[in-house]
Amino acid sequence: MNGVVKREDAVNRLSTDERKALNDYVSAYTNYLGVAKTERRAYAEAVKILEARGFKLLADTKTLKPGDKVYRGYHGKTLFAAIIGEEPVSAGVRVVGGHTDAPRIDLKPVPLCEKNGIAYFDTHYYGGIKKFQWVALPLAIYGTAVRKDGTKVDIAIGDKPGDPVFMISDILPHFGQEQGAKTLNDAFPGENLDLIIATTPCPKDKDDDSVKEKVKLHVLRILAEEYKITEQDLVSAELEIVPAGTPREMGLDRSLITGYGHDDRICAFAGLKALADIEGTPAKTAVVLLCDKEEIGSVGATGMDSTFFENSIAELVFRQRKDYSDIVVRRALEASEMLSADVCAAHDPLFPNASSPGNMAIFNAGACMIKYTGARGKGGANDASAEFIARLREVFDAAGVVWQVGELGRVDAGGGGTIALFMSRYGMNVVDMGTPLLNMHAPWEIASKHDAYMTYKAYKAFFCAK
Ligand code: MN
Ligand code: MN
Repeated sequence: MNGVVKREDAVNRLSTDERKALNDYVSAYTNYLGVAKTERRAYAEAVKILEARGFKLLADTKTLKPGDKVYRGYHGKTLFAAIIGEEPVSAGVRVVGGHTDAPRIDLKPVPLCEKNGIAYFDTHYYGGIKKFQWVALPLAIYGTAVRKDGTKVDIAIGDKPGDPVFMISDILPHFGQEQGAKTLNDAFPGENLDLIIATTPCPKDKDDDSVKEKVKLHVLRILAEEYKITEQDLVSAELEIVPAGTPREMGLDRSLITGYGHDDRICAFAGLKALADIEGTPAKTAVVLLCDKEEIGSVGATGMDSTFFENSIAELVFRQRKDYSDIVVRRALEASEMLSADVCAAHDPLFPNASSPGNMAIFNAGACMIKYTGARGKGGANDASAEFIARLREVFDAAGVVWQVGELGRVDAGGGGTIALFMSRYGMNVVDMGTPLLNMHAPWEIASKHDAYMTYKAYKAFFCAK
């Protein structure tokens, strides 16, 4: 729809029907975002959406034919979902791939400690955060604790009506002189991100004379009573501290949504919804890939750097051909193409020096295509091919997608990456395409409703292309 000329007024050109579709889409997304506050919860929500649309576990499927809808996961975190196309999988698939982990603060394996009558959870932050943004605001605790016998307890405290919230304290401005003289990084050391959990000692009837730290004991008593877990069970727990609260409309014109975890659940949801909304059988097999661990480098069994994606393609090929040959899988991977579904930075007029003039995403100009990410001369980038971009221009324009092109930011201002390069190693065409954000990686990120909707439209157009 542009690609060169930005159309901030695109939002005023939408038809009445499209405006309604946009509002319905945004309300579905904000519901999802308010629930999917961790990668495990994002996975569970995704499975709900898929099963409601008739997707079945791939492991329960013996053969595959065009139109079949299947999914598989790794460890309840990373998800692969596909609609089998008219052409065989060996001819290549179309992937929309994003991630569902988001920057946050994790508990240490031995988190509970007491200092001067306050019980804290000791933490280790996850992903690239500006630490000062995470103090003095209401926080929630989400996650799973696994007991030695394998039974699990899900914990979610801070968002239900009547729930308490938690907080990391900051020094008052009256005594902030010493802090103010430091650089931001030094002023907010990661080791100081300790979460206040309780301040009252254990009641007398539950006391244990052998334990000196009575507030800590109080917390342990509460954990035992309400969650049936012990301090040792916290060793095998994944508890994540995230902002408390659900997404909100933002601005007098309500054009924006602020919420925790737009990066990258805004693109993950767009991909899921685009897949679920495909009518009929697509020409090529349509795949949504939602990864974990992107924010710490795509490592680990549930990250994009694992063999999950190629194993999933092998599973499809095996069921479709009733034989298995490694070369067929290799050919399928190489012939595939992908939209790397991740957010990008929108131009922030308050920080113009970070932007690349004329080559930066702006709000309300649609989904943004980023040809290359990386840093210092495109280092570490998947630099998408001109031929692939030309084909996508045709696909998006024909489908009425409002989209723009952008760079990550001003040359040498910094840098970053997505899962694009992990997929491009198979030889497939990959380009980054996602929703522009302000406040990326802050507890509350900002996106334009219009751009969120256009991201969905772009992914759907890609899946449905001939
Ligand atoms: Mn991201
Ligand atoms: Mn990120």
